[in-house]
Amino acid sequence: MLSSQIVLDQGLLTAAAEAEGFMPADEGRALAEAALAAPPGPILEVGSYLGKSTLYLAAAARARGGKVVTVDHHRGSEEHQPGWEYHDPGLVDPAVGKIDTLPGFRRTIALAGAEDVVVAVVARAEEFAALWSTPLALLFLDGSHTDESARRDLDSWTPHLAAGGVLAIHDVFPDPADGGQAPYRIYRTALDSGDYTELTGRGSLRLLRRHPVS
Ligand code: SAH
Ligand code: MG
Repeated sequence: MLSSQIVLDQGLLTAAAEAEGFMPADEGRALAEAALAAPPGPILEVGSYLGKSTLYLAAAARARGGKVVTVDHHRGSEEHQPGWEYHDPGLVDPAVGKIDTLPGFRRTIALAGAEDVVVAVVARAEEFAALWSTPLALLFLDGSHTDESARRDLDSWTPHLAAGGVLAIHDVFPDPADGGQAPYRIYRTALDSGDYTELTGRGSLRLLRRHPVS
């Protein structure tokens, strides 16, 4: 079958659009299409949260006959903590006194019927990167948006991106009035490295293809 005939799993795209989280439908679809067109290998996501973007990537993984690996410590980013803009009190585990998005994530993936294509890892992304060695088809960075952690995600994971693989970065806002600058800064760092060619992005989603080895 020609790759142009492989199509995204529609049921998973619909489930993704209906899931709770932070991924507009047009950006999610662009992410899934980029994953569909990526070279062979697993897809890896940093920042699972409640599984919304994971399902967009799962729609591509299902079509590719592959897997999406998603890593999150499930304790939330800075903006999810009590007193911050995106805090949801319903996500706090009262016994532990901390946010726990893992039960909600599992529910999302199970109800969408995506458990067979999603490999979930509960860990700090940078610690998991040190244990990883398979070249990645697509790396999606959507974890914490402080400068320090965004840079750590870039530095710890991009060495695992395959030649010709796609680096996807979310929440890139060139104008500070539109949002935090950490994702924009790592996007610039990647682009300025000369290792990538920019593909057509969507909204705050940027897509960069690592140069194939010549
Ligand atoms: N992709 C999600 C949104 C991710 S929100 C969606 O589609 O809705 C960012 C997530 O990154 C949070 O769940 C937070 O727990 C996680 N995170 C933040 N820092 C992390 C780190 N160092 N390692 C792993 N996960 C991290
Ligand atoms: Mg995001």
